[in-house]
Amino acid sequence: MDTLSHFILALLAGLAMDLHRKHRLSLIVFISFCSVLIDLDHFLVPWGYAMQYRSFHNIFIVFLIPCTLFLISYYFERNTRSDKFQIFFLLLTVMLTGHLIADMIQGPVQIFHPVSDMEVSTPQLDIQATDDFISPIVNSYGVGMAVYALIIFVGVFIHDILYHQRRKRLNSRDALRHAIRDWF
Ligand SMILES: [Zn+2]
Repeated sequence: MDTLSHFILALLAGLAMDLHRKHRLSLIVFISFCSVLIDLDHFLVPWGYAMQYRSFHNIFIVFLIPCTLFLISYYFERNTRSDKFQIFFLLLTVMLTGHLIADMIQGPVQIFHPVSDMEVSTPQLDIQATDDFISPIVNSYGVGMAVYALIIFVGVFIHDILYHQRRKRLNSRDALRHAIRDWF
């Protein structure tokens, strides 16, 4: 997927998580910008810094590292007034993971690089209602966007738990219960 589309999707993910009510909109724009930096992969090969377009498009860069930084921030900010680093890394994890999923729509990605060369893509689907109407009911784009939406839902849910813990001073179990109740 092109970098501009990634940026717009990341921006929409940030707005969907409703963070702009408490944090500056410019912060969401900045994190969206950070999430498209992995597309530097497109330039590393022409510039001679890499052999293939995969250095940053893998689960270690898009999920494990930002998620670990989120957990570390959560630990260190739990007794402070600020939650900005945990929010930053939570949103960055959502946006980067969504970026990788969106790229998997267009073709296989070596998501376990450098550990494995296994290529993964979204299922190649094309379900048509009738042969007369070209536009399918579900195709690979739909599946990819559904997974992206699911990632946003998980991000919103975690953010809800953090909100209840911090604002209402609840323990983890009660915060989880409140977050679940918010959804129904
Ligand atoms: Zn990309």
